[in-house]
Amino acid sequence: MNVDIHRRSSGRNVVRVGDLAFGGHDPLFIAGPCSVESKTQIDAIAAHVKKAGAQVLRGGAFKPRSSPYSFQGLNEPGLKLLSAAAQREGLACISEIVDKGDIPLFERHVDIIQVGARNMQNYDLLKALGKAKKPVLLKRGFANTVDEWLLSAEYVIAGGNENVILCERGIRTFASTSRFTLDIASVPIVKTKSPLPVIVDPSHAAGRYDLVRPLSMAALAAGADGLIVEVHTDPASAESDGAQSLKPEKFAALMRDLKTLRRCIEGL
Ligand code: PEP
Ligand code: MN
Repeated sequence: MNVDIHRRSSGRNVVRVGDLAFGGHDPLFIAGPCSVESKTQIDAIAAHVKKAGAQVLRGGAFKPRSSPYSFQGLNEPGLKLLSAAAQREGLACISEIVDKGDIPLFERHVDIIQVGARNMQNYDLLKALGKAKKPVLLKRGFANTVDEWLLSAEYVIAGGNENVILCERGIRTFASTSRFTLDIASVPIVKTKSPLPVIVDPSHAAGRYDLVRPLSMAALAAGADGLIVEVHTDPASAESDGAQSLKPEKFAALMRDLKTLRRCIEGL
């Protein structure tokens, strides 16, 4: 496929979220639960991830679940809980949108609007986000090529919103030992094809908490501009994705190790 990416600058795009710069010198860390479940839950997790060094709090409020019988999220009250918890800790926040009609609501409550893997080709939503006043984190669809992913980003950019951050989160392959297969090569490939920042989601790729650390290390070593990691104080009772969620102490240890890794990378 001939990918017609419209380069607007000769250098790399930096997406600014308050004082944060995605695609700048330092990688940035987004962390939090898969879903916002309660005020107690999101407040506690926000405090833990802040202390460990994350800059952005994640938490789904509108959940696109494979089963209609699974927890669907707290919706608007969930977004408000996420935003309040982030503000209290001095964190930015991000949540996933599934309906373009909710854009004004997201603009009010979050700093970054997430488009999930299942909506990467929802072109109506992408076009509407081209007019949104907030940056967009665009996850790669798990059955999509890198070129299709970059063209989806173009839908947002063509609408006038150039603040797009890409997120590799694993693709579906014949390998069944992890939930998805993290396409680590996509990170350097995207960097040669596009000026957009690219981060990695090791949690959804892995599906298991024990793989999150090695995949995170690989992502930063491959040049990712940041990570988005699921963290939960009580993974066993999480409403969604408990198996891949790190306990706060494991996340803190990972952040310490990533600091060491960054010093090694910078020495190269
Ligand atoms: C998520 O981040 O909560 C999520 C649903 O991820 P993905 O869209 O990558 O499956
Ligand atoms: Mn999840």
